[in-house]
Formats: sequence, structure tokens, C-alpha cells
Amino acid sequence: MSNRVLVTGAAGYIGSHTVVELVKAGYEVVGVDDFANSTPDVLKGISSILGFEIPFVEADCSDMSSFSRVFEAYPDIDAAIHFAAFKAVGESVLKPVEYFRNNLMSLVNLIDLMRSRESGNIVFSSSCTVYGEPDEGALPISETARTKPALSPYGRTKQMCEDMLKDSVRAYGNIKVTALRYFNPIGAHPSALIGELPVGVPQNLVPYITQTAAGLRKELSIFGDDYDTPDGTCIRDYIYVCDLAKAHVRAVDRMLGADGERYELFNLGTGTGVSVLELVNEFKRVTGVDLPYKFAPRREGDIVKVWADASKANKILGWKADTPLGDVLLSAWNWEKKIRNL
Ligand code: UDP
Repeated sequence: MSNRVLVTGAAGYIGSHTVVELVKAGYEVVGVDDFANSTPDVLKGISSILGFEIPFVEADCSDMSSFSRVFEAYPDIDAAIHFAAFKAVGESVLKPVEYFRNNLMSLVNLIDLMRSRESGNIVFSSSCTVYGEPDEGALPISETARTKPALSPYGRTKQMCEDMLKDSVRAYGNIKVTALRYFNPIGAHPSALIGELPVGVPQNLVPYITQTAAGLRKELSIFGDDYDTPDGTCIRDYIYVCDLAKAHVRAVDRMLGADGERYELFNLGTGTGVSVLELVNEFKRVTGVDLPYKFAPRREGDIVKVWADASKANKILGWKADTPLGDVLLSAWNWEKKIRNL
């Protein structure tokens, strides 16, 4: 066994941080990306952290002729971590076909390429979005909670991909799957050499905060202050991207160690809910930067409160997201300052 891990979407936000953790843990990697939502500069950031250039193939995973070249060039792949996907909820409502083509076809191709191999280990990037709004009393939400109809084509692709993987495990004896349901990944590598690079106006909270603090945006709009939560703002489970990346290493360790069931599912979160206002105040406290904000109307489709029961991942993967929120927010701010030359 070569211990080579294929990372699709290697130049993306979570992919790039995971490549770094895999190499640190002793794995060989091969990265794939088509730079649809990233740039080759991310690979330079990875090289600066690691001190060498990772094996990489520029390819579109949704195009079989392009994607299969990776397996021809690297026949020793033992496991694949599949990050490559479109991820903007709002955009997916406007462009469902693009989301279906990219997110579904890339996974169909990956399964097709893996099903005839000796090792068919796949780690899949899923999302807590599959839970929808948790029922009263269901928080923290565990993997046994039922999923709810998706509110966007993006969310639907995550549910469909999980189902496609379950069917494939049943049909193909070599395929083994770990699906990881992420809560809200935030922050950047401590080196500030890689981080989140949103295209255009950020849709997510933390990049909007850091861009506002850097003076690129006038003020943060907090969507809704009249929710049924202690301070009226929505609650999420914000997880440090480096902690999240380490969970992928544990998942690969487990699969290659031949442990576990053939289809396993884990929530990846901290287990703690944090409100928008609490997060804003923590950002101000740790950075000392003033952050102009106003309360704005609720954002359509927002979930009111969700946070993870991550005890299964804690116990079975031997993993815990334990970086303090203040340190995580500081890493996001250091990254923003670095890319803005502040
Ligand atoms: N949010 C906000 N202002 C923004 C962006 C996000 O108040 O400019 C809120 C949003 O309403 C939600 C939380 O921040 O309650 C997290 O939103 P994000 O889009 O980052 O993640 P998701 O909604 O996918 O969990």
C-alpha cells in the first residue's frame, strides 16, 4: 500500500488545509482542481507551508476524460477525499443544472473510477444542511436525526450524493465510504499562507466580518435579531478549518486501517452553539478592531439554531475540535490582513 490519498478540490478552502494535514501525518497526496472557484496561488501557499510542491493535476472531476487522467498518472491511489463541489446556496437556486452537473457528476465519476480498484475508500464532504431546521429537543443534533427535504439545490446535491454513496457501497464490494457532515468551517492556517478566498461579496459570516474589519465593506448586516434565541440572533456551530482538516486524516487512517463499517457517517462540529452576536463580540475582543454592524431583516431560508452532537467523531475517530473560538477568529483576521497587505 502506497498510502496515497487523492484530494479533489485540493486548491479549495477545506481541501487545501486538509492537504497540509495529510502530508504532516505522513501521507502521499495527489491534488486535483480545475480552479473553477480557486486559484493556482493556493498551491503556492501549500508549498510554502510544506517546503515542497505537492503532486497535482489540473482536471475537471465532472468530465470523465479529464478526471481519469489523474488515475492514469497516479495508479497507486488508496483513498480519495472528495471536496470538489460548488457550495453557494443562493447561487444554486439560480443555477440548479450547474450544481447538479458539477456536484453529482464529479461523484459519479469518482465512484466509477474507484469501483474497479483494489482500494475503494472514499471520504465525502457533506454538510449539516441535510438536517434542515432541527426539531424541538433535537439539539445538539446527532447523526441519527432524520434528514429533512433540502431547501436548495446545493443541499439537495449533498443528500443525493450521500444516497449515491450508500447505493454504491451496497453494489460494489470494494467501495468503503466515510461521509463527514460539516457544521460551519471558519478560520485560516496559523501561517496565514492559506485561508478562505470568497469570490465577490462574501455570503458567509466570518469572511464578511473580516472584510468589514479590513475596510472593504462598510458594515456587517446581522440578519435577524428577533429569533427565538437568547440574544435574538441565529446560532451555529463554528469549527476551525484546521481541526476539520485533521478529522479527515483520522477518517483516512480508520479506513486504511480496515476499521469500521463500510458506510460511516460523522458530524464534525465543536458541539457548542454560538450566536451571530456572540461571534461578532468575540471577534472584537480578540482583535481589538471595531466592527461596524447593524441589524437587518432575516435572511430567507436561514436555520434558526443548529449545533452538533460530535460525540461519535470524538469517540470513534478519536478526534475533537478544541481550538478556542478567539484563536480561530484571530487566524481569520491574520489571513485577511495578509491578503490585503494590512
Ligand atoms: N449572517 C449574517 N450576516 C452576514 C452573513 C451571515 O448575519 O453577512 C448570519 C446568517 O444569517 C447565519 C450565520 O450568520 O445566521 C451564519 O451564516 P453563514 O452564511 O456563514 O452560514 P450558514 O447559514 O450556511 O450556516
